[in-house]
Amino acid sequence: MTDASDNSPVSRPSASEPSTVSGVTRRGVLDAVAVLGSIAIVGRATPLAAAPAVSERSWKQLAQTLSGPLLRPDDAAFRAAARPNNLAYDDRLPAGIARCRTAEDVQAAVLWCRENEVGFVTRAGGYSYAGHSMTRGLLIDVGGLNTVAFDKQTGRVSVGAGVTHRELFAALSRREVSVIHGRVYGIGVGGFTLGGGLGYDARLHGVGSDRLVETDIVGADGKIRTASAKNQTDLFWACRGGGGGNFGINTQFVLDTFAVADITTFDITWSDRPEAVADALLKALAKAPDRLGSKMRLRSVTPENRPEQRSVHVRLTGQLHGPREELLDILAPVFAVGPALKRTIRNGPYWENQRLVAEQRAPDRYRGRSRFVAKDFDAPALDAAFRQARRFPGTGGEASLKLLQTGEAINAVRPEDTAFVHRGSRWLLMTTFSYRGSDSRRTVAAAGDWLDETYEVMLPYCGKGAFQNMSDPALDDCYEQYYGANLARLREIKAAVDPDGVFRFGQSIPGAR
Ligand SMILES: Cc1cc2nc3c(=O)[nH]c(=O)nc-3n(C[C@H](O)[C@H](O)[C@H](O)COP(=O)(O)OP(=O)(O)OC[C@H]3O[C@@H](n4cnc5c(N)ncnc54)[C@H](O)[C@@H]3O)c2cc1C
Repeated sequence: MTDASDNSPVSRPSASEPSTVSGVTRRGVLDAVAVLGSIAIVGRATPLAAAPAVSERSWKQLAQTLSGPLLRPDDAAFRAAARPNNLAYDDRLPAGIARCRTAEDVQAAVLWCRENEVGFVTRAGGYSYAGHSMTRGLLIDVGGLNTVAFDKQTGRVSVGAGVTHRELFAALSRREVSVIHGRVYGIGVGGFTLGGGLGYDARLHGVGSDRLVETDIVGADGKIRTASAKNQTDLFWACRGGGGGNFGINTQFVLDTFAVADITTFDITWSDRPEAVADALLKALAKAPDRLGSKMRLRSVTPENRPEQRSVHVRLTGQLHGPREELLDILAPVFAVGPALKRTIRNGPYWENQRLVAEQRAPDRYRGRSRFVAKDFDAPALDAAFRQARRFPGTGGEASLKLLQTGEAINAVRPEDTAFVHRGSRWLLMTTFSYRGSDSRRTVAAAGDWLDETYEVMLPYCGKGAFQNMSDPALDDCYEQYYGANLARLREIKAAVDPDGVFRFGQSIPGAR
């Protein structure tokens, strides 16, 4: 039964609950973890006054200091500006939104929060899976820092903290260069890069953070530092995969581009003999050159309460730096198994072709869990994945098990060279489901149970490590899974650059003990 009044996420993601860090008590971690509920905390031991206790005079002072607008709950633009992409977290409204236009605005906002003991988080694109850019305190929105500048001499592109993929694509569309990027227009390039950044070109050119050469970052003391291979080297190391929101507010990113020419993009769906198709596809992809980047989805669509209508389709999207004929050769064994239900394959200039694989992704409610896969995704793994896809109980949305192909250039960097530790995988397995606000509490809870069960069932076929860009509040050991052997160094850097722990959210890295 559908209860339209009940739209809260049922298996309430436990981002606010303590996760364990080796050697640290749950209580200790709780102290270090931002409470995403009703209390905003800044400072090591001082629970801050809830932001509404801040005087109107202080709010006014902040408004006067910023060059961009300060939005308060009564402002007409407030509600839309507060909305995250994952509407499961839309009930956690901030006390104010500082819409920063300059790095100085960001500095002023951080210093104001410290002075007034108001908790805060940073927001760029707003696509955090786990609502990490939501707060009851001040939302520091860097969306106004949205310039993109390409330097022909160095081949580098300078990207403001608020630049989304839409703006990046538009700025580079007339040039034959690219950086590692995702496909969703609204995602912040900075948020994407700070957590590693996996795109279709990563097998050829490494993860997004491998191509970061410099970043400006506002620290806990309100100062701006430039971190690179020469300056602030620890901070730079941490910004290359350590995850957004942990070490400061990055205001600018300089990224190394690579040359691009014509490519072949593809979006192909098979509905007949999906198991045999997926098996042939995995074998074909395993032999494919690093010029091919792809994601295979086992997509389960089950209308609510209609399990008899459940179906699993295999969908492959991606791109090949090579001609259409080469792609057809690679996929020939798959087409031999069964004809595609839908097939779009297009060859043309790089940026024009991105339109085929890019997505709008309007705000929605969703959950996802990930795990890197260190070996072949073999027949038993595929059987288990199909079994789970067929068990999805159904929501008003849909569910998928997705395999993003990794390896090659991603694994050519040593795990300790940057904070992005995941350097030995072949695939990233991501299981997701979406639901509607009109889905009943029970429906959403059943889908959440399915997600957790799928995660457990698939664990034996995976390796270590979860993707920090796909923040997963249900992970008990999130720090080990996101950062592995790099966690100790990240904690030391956190303690050094943010001794009072002002940059906090549900899974922020705790400082060293
Ligand atoms: C539909 C969907 C598809 C995705 N696809 C991919 C993909 O293909 N590859 C991939 O790698 N990831 C992907 N992601 C994950 C995405 O890259 C991360 O969630 C990323 O952190 C989002 O950045 P954002 O700026 O849009 O989000 P926000 O919610 O604004 O920020 C995410 C986190 O980064 C922090 N942050 C943002 N900007 C800054 C900054 N300037 N300085 C400091 N901290 C900052 C925020 O405080 C928050 O903790 C996807 C996510 C979704 C929901």
